[in-house]
Amino acid sequence: MTSINVMGVPYTLELVDVVDDQDDTIIGRVVFEEQKIQVRSSMGPEAVRATVLHELIHAIDNECNLGRNGHLPEAIVSRVASSLFITLALNPSLAKRLFDV
Ligand SMILES: [Zn+2]
Repeated sequence: MTSINVMGVPYTLELVDVVDDQDDTIIGRVVFEEQKIQVRSSMGPEAVRATVLHELIHAIDNECNLGRNGHLPEAIVSRVASSLFITLALNPSLAKRLFDV
């Protein structure tokens, strides 16, 4: 379990065997009431990282009210997450420069 500071709010990141026992297509989610991000651990490392980033955007949306009158649409979160993940993956020196503090 890892702690993540999301805009001043502590979230926990949990890599779990099963995210949703009613729906095995769910690979990640944010439990907003518990400030918890859960991601399926059985995926490859790149899929785990991409899913963590996706769920992190949901958490940021929740804390910053990006969607104004509710959460951002899933399609927007998916596009932002995947384009950001790909851009950072294609530019590792940029990612290092941005985050190597
Ligand atoms: Zn999502």
